[in-house]
Amino acid sequence: MLLRIRRGTSEPAVSDVAARLRLAGLALHRTDHDGRVRLAAVGDGAAVDWDEVRRWPPVESIEPSPVPFELASRVFHPADTVFSVGRCAIGSGQLVLMAGPCSVEGEEQAFTIAAAVAKAGATVLRGGAYKPRTSPYSFQGLGEEGLKILRRAADAHGLAVVSEVMDPKQVQQVARYADIVQVGARNMQNLSLLREVARAQKPVLLKRGMAATIEEWLMSAEHVLSSGNGRVMLCERGIRTFESYTRNTLDLNAIPVIKELSHLPVIVDPSHGTGMRDKVAPMARAAIAAGADGLLIEVHHDPDHALSDGPQSLYPAQFEELVQQIRAIAGVVGRTL
Ligand code: PEP
Ligand code: MN
Repeated sequence: MLLRIRRGTSEPAVSDVAARLRLAGLALHRTDHDGRVRLAAVGDGAAVDWDEVRRWPPVESIEPSPVPFELASRVFHPADTVFSVGRCAIGSGQLVLMAGPCSVEGEEQAFTIAAAVAKAGATVLRGGAYKPRTSPYSFQGLGEEGLKILRRAADAHGLAVVSEVMDPKQVQQVARYADIVQVGARNMQNLSLLREVARAQKPVLLKRGMAATIEEWLMSAEHVLSSGNGRVMLCERGIRTFESYTRNTLDLNAIPVIKELSHLPVIVDPSHGTGMRDKVAPMARAAIAAGADGLLIEVHHDPDHALSDGPQSLYPAQFEELVQQIRAIAGVVGRTL
């Protein structure tokens, strides 16, 4: 239920409304917009007499949420969510570029790529230490050693770190080294992982499941938001379709659709979205033109020998050229880089 509180209501009176609803078993979330307080009362409100609540003096209006992802929706939170990671205020109009290898493979690899992406203009270094591989025989990642390497490589170049977590038991460890905790496509609906990630109180990059609708994806974000972590980015990384010329079908529709429905920043991953190096730059440019808040891109200095996702990894020089193009497009769509 969404409650609008009358303008000018005192703080104790707002708190009183919230406290009384909490007593009825609901969880309360608050936003302040246009000089007015909005309260989202979520949970089982069956025992609440809403006609009575409507008569409480501070309450101007009450309406059921028009969408099931109440906290992620713009109805509750009209303004864009903005939060800082390293040097970038994500969601503010300042584009965030996250780039790096699919997997951390070793010290030399991570430092070489970190230097290249930092020079090109990225502010976040990506790299997997726990890898969700389709085959159990493929490289599974370096684990904590990989996280340490990634952190050192990022620190050497003034970058923040994003890295994936696959298991609730790994969350504390990944959060110790990473500035952004990534939930991968395969785990978008792993609810115990989402709860644990929310508890870590680090920004979350929530990838879209490969067969997830936008609503299911927003409901996963709702799990994180309702667990008390508001710093969530949604990452479109392509979905499964009947098309087989590309690895996935990058759903650029999702950008304007989410921008209308939700206040959360939208990041696009054209590397997994296409699976092909020469398709990454066109789709990255299109994503920024369509209103994305940033990009997640795989870059490798020696992709032929990469331990994962070499065929979709850009060479550093290609990434550098792409950043120049993104800068030009950003200017046209009211963004900065
Ligand atoms: C990745 O970012 O390396 C990754 C495994 O992505 P996804 O979860 O989108 O497949
Ligand atoms: Mn990858």
